[in-house]
Amino acid sequence: MSNINNDLTLFNELVETLIKEEESSPVAERIDAKKLYDSIDLSLNDSGMIDDEFKTLLRQILVSTPKTATKLFFNQLFGGRQSKAILGDLLAVMLNNSMYTYKVAGPQVGIEQEIIRQSCDLIGYGSKSNGTFPTGGSMSNYMALVMARDAKDPKCRLEGMSKPLIVYTSKESHYSNSKNVSFTGIGRNNIRYIKADSKGRMIPELLEEQINKDINDGFIPTYVNATAGTTVLGAFDPIDDIANITEKYKMWLHVDGAYCGSVIFSEKYKHLLKGVERSNSFSYNAHKMLGTPLTCSIILVNDKRQLYDSFSNDADYLYQTDGDDFNLGKTSFQCGRRNDALKFWTLWKSVGGKGLRNIVDKQFDLANVALDYIRNNSDYTLYSFDDSISICFNYKNIDPTELCTALYEHQVTVVGFGSFEENTFIRLVTINANNEKEDILNFFKVLEGFVEKTPSLKKMKEISI
Ligand SMILES: *Cc1c(COP(=O)(O)O)cnc(C)c1O
Repeated sequence: MSNINNDLTLFNELVETLIKEEESSPVAERIDAKKLYDSIDLSLNDSGMIDDEFKTLLRQILVSTPKTATKLFFNQLFGGRQSKAILGDLLAVMLNNSMYTYKVAGPQVGIEQEIIRQSCDLIGYGSKSNGTFPTGGSMSNYMALVMARDAKDPKCRLEGMSKPLIVYTSKESHYSNSKNVSFTGIGRNNIRYIKADSKGRMIPELLEEQINKDINDGFIPTYVNATAGTTVLGAFDPIDDIANITEKYKMWLHVDGAYCGSVIFSEKYKHLLKGVERSNSFSYNAHKMLGTPLTCSIILVNDKRQLYDSFSNDADYLYQTDGDDFNLGKTSFQCGRRNDALKFWTLWKSVGGKGLRNIVDKQFDLANVALDYIRNNSDYTLYSFDDSISICFNYKNIDPTELCTALYEHQVTVVGFGSFEENTFIRLVTINANNEKEDILNFFKVLEGFVEKTPSLKKMKEISI
C-alpha cells in the first residue's frame, strides 16, 4: 500500500536513474508512435501492479520519454532545469493548495502577489496595476482579449456581443490569437493579420491603414496584439509605435511576451520592450526564458479594475473571509488553480534579480556564439537577426525538414524547423541557460558529423534569400 516516505525514496531513486541516463544518452531512444503500445505496457487493468514491476515499468517510461533538459535538446521554446525552481514546484505539489482564497492558500497568496507587484514595477505599470497566473501564454492572450472585448462592448457580459469588433495581430504572432477570437465570440473573420517587415516585426503603418479601412467599413477596431519574441524569428514588434496608434484609436494594446517578455529582467535587453508601460496588458512565460518547470505564465494588467470587471463572480460558498485583494479567485479564469507561483518565487528569491538577469543574458550570449559560428562558415546560410535567441539557418543547402527529422530519428539531437516568408530553415533555440559555449559549438559538430555520414540527405531545389 502507499506510504509517502517510501514513494519519496522511490522518487529519489528514479530521479538518479534519469539524471545518469541524461548524461549517457542525452537524446532518448525513439519509440515509433505506431509501436508505442507494443513497446511499453501502458495498459490500465483491474488488478494493481506489484512494487518491483511497477518500479521497473516507471524506469522504462522515464528513459524512453523525450529529454528536454539535456545539452542536445533545442527543439522548443523551453529547455534545461533551474533546480531552485524545481524545488519550489515539488513543494507546491506536497502542499497542494488551490490559489483562489487566502483561507486555503495563506502565504502562497502573498508569494503570487509579490511576483506580480515586482513584475509590474519592472515594466513601469503604476499603482493601479495587478495580474494573475493563467494556465499558459495562450490563456494569458485569451484573458487579455476578453478584457478588451468587455471594455469596448460592456453590455457583452449580460447580453452577448452587440458590436462588430476587430482584432489585429501580425502574421508572425502566435496561433492562439486565431483561436481566441473564435472563443471570445469575435469570430475568425474579424482578425486582421498585419504584414511584418523583413525582420519579422509588425509594420505600424499597415496597421493604421487597416484600422482606417475597418472604420470606414463600419467595424470597431478593438484590440492589437503586439508580440515580444515571435515564435519563429524571435522578433520584437515596435511597441512604442503601435501604442501611438492604439492610444489614438482608443484600442486595447496587449503585449504577448510569452517567449521573450522575460527580457524585462535584463538591463541590456529590456530596451527591446520600449513602450511596454503604455500597454493595457502584458504577459510572459517564466517557463520559457527563465527556465521554471511548465507551466508558469503571468499576465499583468495596467488597470486592475478591468481584470475584476471581466473575471470576478460572487460566490458566497467560496469567498468567506479576508477581502478581495487576498482572494485571488476573483481575478482568475478557473476556480481551483494550481500554485504556479511558488517555483518562480523560490528561483527568484534564491538567485535574486541579478540571477534572473544572468539567466536571460546568458541566452543571448549563447545566441551570439551560434551567430558568430554561422557567419564565419560559408556552408551555412543565416535567416535570423541580432537580438534574438532563435537562430535560423540552413546547412549546405540541405532540406531542413528532412535534416531535422533524420537528426531526431537517429537520436543525434532534437531541433526543429520553421518558415519565414519564402524560406524554411532549422531553428536553434538557445533558451537553455544551463548550456555553455562548448555545448552550442558541439551542436554544430554533431550536425556536421551526421551530414557527413548521411550522403542520402536531399538538397533544396533553390536558395532564395
Ligand atoms: C509559447 C507562446 C505562446 C503560448 O504559450 P503557452 O504557454 O504555450 O500556451 C503564446 N505566444 C507566444 C509568442 C509564445 O511563444
